[in-house]
Amino acid sequence: MSAPLPERLDPWRAVKFKAAFAGEASLRSFPRLAEAVLGTAGPARYEIRFGLDEQGQAVARGHVSMVLRMTCQRCLGEFEVSVDTPIALGLVHVRGDSDRLGLTQVEGLAGDLEPLPLGDDEPVRVLDWLEDELLLALPQVPMHPAGHCVAAVTLAASEEMVAERPRNPFAALAALQARRSGPEADEH
Ligand SMILES: [Zn+2]
Repeated sequence: MSAPLPERLDPWRAVKFKAAFAGEASLRSFPRLAEAVLGTAGPARYEIRFGLDEQGQAVARGHVSMVLRMTCQRCLGEFEVSVDTPIALGLVHVRGDSDRLGLTQVEGLAGDLEPLPLGDDEPVRVLDWLEDELLLALPQVPMHPAGHCVAAVTLAASEEMVAERPRNPFAALAALQARRSGPEADEH
């Protein structure tokens, strides 16, 4: 069993000792996310493992999932978005504190790894990384899934409007949203 994340940790020690963490975190841990959503249907669940990949690159891999309540941009009703997103970070050592967050040259990072510049021995709040991933995974246009939106029912009932509009203008967006929400969302 993996322990929950501490509030802060030394990422390089975590890599060295192949630390693995798993647990839950409430919306209170994610103030930026809290501003972007109405609420949650439960805590975030995460697991994250530190270590070196085959190329000797320091990595942090895992996933984070959370069910968030958002406002549907079509009917302004509330609906739930199930987010389940992978974490694939390549930890890049930046010496000194110049350009720590700036233009760091990162070469040879494996394809799916997102570079994360880090200082020498600065403790980091890994929950911030999870929050970033959740924010990135939110739908850009939050909407009810197809067939669940009050506005969509009204639209379909009006044959004139259906005839005037391109066929099912929301289908592409809904499909995109389902993809972005991950495979779990497709099962509903
Ligand atoms: Zn709706």
